[in-house]
Amino acid sequence: MPIKQIKKFFSGPAPRLTREEAMKVFQRDHFKCRYCGLDGLHRFENWLILTVDHVHPHARGGSRSMENLVTACQPCNLLKGKRTYASFEEAKTHVLAKREEWQRVFHEQVKSSGTPAAG
Ligand SMILES: [Zn+2]
Repeated sequence: MPIKQIKKFFSGPAPRLTREEAMKVFQRDHFKCRYCGLDGLHRFENWLILTVDHVHPHARGGSRSMENLVTACQPCNLLKGKRTYASFEEAKTHVLAKREEWQRVFHEQVKSSGTPAAG
């Protein structure tokens, strides 16, 4: 069995947080994405995509303590990926840079489609 698979076998899948644990994180962060600042209480569509992010990924030994958990919208969580960062600030810098990158792509696509940009 390759090392990678053995490691995966032992650490197993990330245990899901309970609804209560997730709510504690959301409440501490005022239902706002800690990366982009998206306000989950502003509209239902925002609220629906709030997730709890392990700053230091659980798959890489990150703990489930409140200090390691932050509110993140789904897009930010996805952009952050499974990489390990030295700190939350470093992760945030990476996520915001990725968002800017994708925003440029978005604007190019809007421009080439001829539709006026909304955001
Ligand atoms: Zn976000």
